[in-house]
Amino acid sequence: MEDLRERVVGCVLGLALGDALGAPFEFRRREAIPVPLPAFELGWSGLPPGTWTDDTAMARNLWRSLAEHRRLVPADLVARHLEWLATDPPDVGSVTRSVLGKIREGDPDAAARYVAERGPEVSAGNGSVMYCAPLGAFRATRPESLYDEAPELSAITHWDERCRTACLAVTLATAALVHGTQPGPAVEDAVAAVVDREGGEELEYLVVEAGRARRIDGPDMGFTLFTAGIGLQVAAEAPGFEEGLRRVVTLGGDTDTNGAVAGALLGAIYGRAGLPPAWLRVLLDRGAIEEEAEALADAATA
Ligand SMILES: [Mg+2]
Repeated sequence: MEDLRERVVGCVLGLALGDALGAPFEFRRREAIPVPLPAFELGWSGLPPGTWTDDTAMARNLWRSLAEHRRLVPADLVARHLEWLATDPPDVGSVTRSVLGKIREGDPDAAARYVAERGPEVSAGNGSVMYCAPLGAFRATRPESLYDEAPELSAITHWDERCRTACLAVTLATAALVHGTQPGPAVEDAVAAVVDREGGEELEYLVVEAGRARRIDGPDMGFTLFTAGIGLQVAAEAPGFEEGLRRVVTLGGDTDTNGAVAGALLGAIYGRAGLPPAWLRVLLDRGAIEEEAEALADAATA
């Protein structure tokens, strides 16, 4: 159980580290990312190195809510998201801002309406998959709950079936990794579990080819299946926490979000002890996040 706790904490801190690592390079083409990557040396949006973005802010709402209620309570999570939105954060995803704004104005079905009213060719954004992994960590010993809860979590802001598929795959893989399953089988099983859902076959392809045959730094860089695909790919290959995250961010595109998902999965593999101390020293709110991670570990092992 102690190892499982350490992997929950690794997942939570890993998400924040990946987000903060990628933030200075968000939306760059691969060629515009310096090699070797200056890790935790640059800030973003005028803020110091180690500053994380909306991915971690929304994930904190999730893991605090899970720790308090010991189950997914969408209404509580929405309330926390709205409170965060009211602080006027520097970066909020466009779908998230639009849907939460309408929920605040009294439309509880805003996420469904957004999908019903938009055109058919719009891609499915990564605004829900970016912060879902802690739900998987929380359900490490009860992963069957994720078949309902992960799509439900996505649908709070991202109703699109492909977004739900991405959240289910990432949370199932996270749960298995936190539980101690080897990385290759954990990812294979998670992909197999979603392959018949909408976007499942595309995800299966991207877990192999994201950043390789299929670049992830083009105009559709915020696609939910890119983020899930690259995160699951690096988790399956498990080249180490730091090496894996450097690889993901160096591919360009939505680097902070790709880093957040990859960081959560890699942190679930390597645990707290596998995280780079030099990065942790610079991470914004590291102490508070670590305490919150302990609370999530308590809830996960209760
Ligand atoms: Mg972000």
